[in-house]
Amino acid sequence: KQPLYGKVAIVTGGSSGIGKASAIALAKKGAKIALVDLKEENADKVKKEISEFGGEAIVTDTDVSDTNRMEESYLQVIKQWGRIDIVFANAGINGKVEPIEDLTTDDWDQTLGTNLRSTFLSVKHAIPHMKDKGGSIIITSSINGTRTFKNFGMAAYSTSKAGQVAFGKMAALELARYRIRVNIICPGAIDTNIGENTFPDKEELKKIQIPIKYPDGSQPLEHKAGKPEQVADLVCFLSSDSSSHITGTQIFIDGAESLL
Ligand code: NAD
Repeated sequence: KQPLYGKVAIVTGGSSGIGKASAIALAKKGAKIALVDLKEENADKVKKEISEFGGEAIVTDTDVSDTNRMEESYLQVIKQWGRIDIVFANAGINGKVEPIEDLTTDDWDQTLGTNLRSTFLSVKHAIPHMKDKGGSIIITSSINGTRTFKNFGMAAYSTSKAGQVAFGKMAALELARYRIRVNIICPGAIDTNIGENTFPDKEELKKIQIPIKYPDGSQPLEHKAGKPEQVADLVCFLSSDSSSHITGTQIFIDGAESLL
């Protein structure tokens, strides 16, 4: 029997990168998947990919920062499958990369809304459906939520990611009494679409991200970003009963990047 057979998982940002890889990995382990994403067309492709190996998925076309849409989305999942066991609160953007003095309130609100308010909404709307039977919630923060981002212009992003860590821990403490676990994952650089518009010069970015060299001149990670599938393995572990005594943790998945 598949380890997540009979479970229902909500995956926000499930149409690309870490969310897509995790949705597919969770489905392969038997979970039914609700893809909650702005990009309906891409989400439909992931749904198709899941159905091709016999999995089940639905798409809810949702802006994760929108309170009403998030509530409707969760109700749509309940209507479809009658339960929610796993929530992967993962959708996120880098947002506008600007020095603080040039950052507008709208830029700030967009980044904080997409990354942090969405996390609050993802957890809040899960509680009524998990209270009686427990569940697992996983939040995608970043190594840059616990240290400074090595690029200027990322103040709003780092603030949102730090907020996710704080909120995730508070939620873990508050919800442990219902056997709802909440864990926070902190990826380093992962090869996804997130940086496409933000950091067009990938070579420059690498120089900033991995500044030290071993005595023989080589560099940690050989400048390689992680793969979304590697993060998906961690998401599957935290979703399953194999991690039943783990809650409120913040797990780095960065191949040593945060140690540099
Ligand atoms: P990605 O751009 O490949 O995927 C992000 C997904 O979120 C997309 O499907 C996008 O449509 C969706 N999304 C964006 N705004 C949304 C909104 N308002 N409502 C609904 N969906 C929305 O990026 P990714 O790298 O897979 O990012 C996933 C998470 O991982 C983010 O929270 C990001 O901050 C975090 N993260 C990524 C990295 C990295 O290097 N890629 C590192 C650390 C943390």
